[in-house]
Amino acid sequence: MEEAPPKRCEHCGIRRARRRYCRPCGRKASALYNRALRREAKAAGEKYWLEWWEKAFGAEATEKRREYQRTYMRAYRRRKRERSAA
Ligand SMILES: [Zn+2]
Repeated sequence: MEEAPPKRCEHCGIRRARRRYCRPCGRKASALYNRALRREAKAAGEKYWLEWWEKAFGAEATEKRREYQRTYMRAYRRRKRERSAA
């Protein structure tokens, strides 16, 4: 009978894991789990984030979301410019 290869962490893959994840990644386990749930929902075409916006802003949700997106992208492009300049 062949010896089973040492189990590796499902997240980083570089460390041995006694369970699903290695010790440092084990602390992030619930974040990783939630991230997987969100990915599945997105793949299934569920726009779960719209619900959050509607809950927070009601009728203004679409407007507020766009405003946030504009601000975020502006900041993102600025950061990108600064990075390439440095
Ligand atoms: Zn790990």
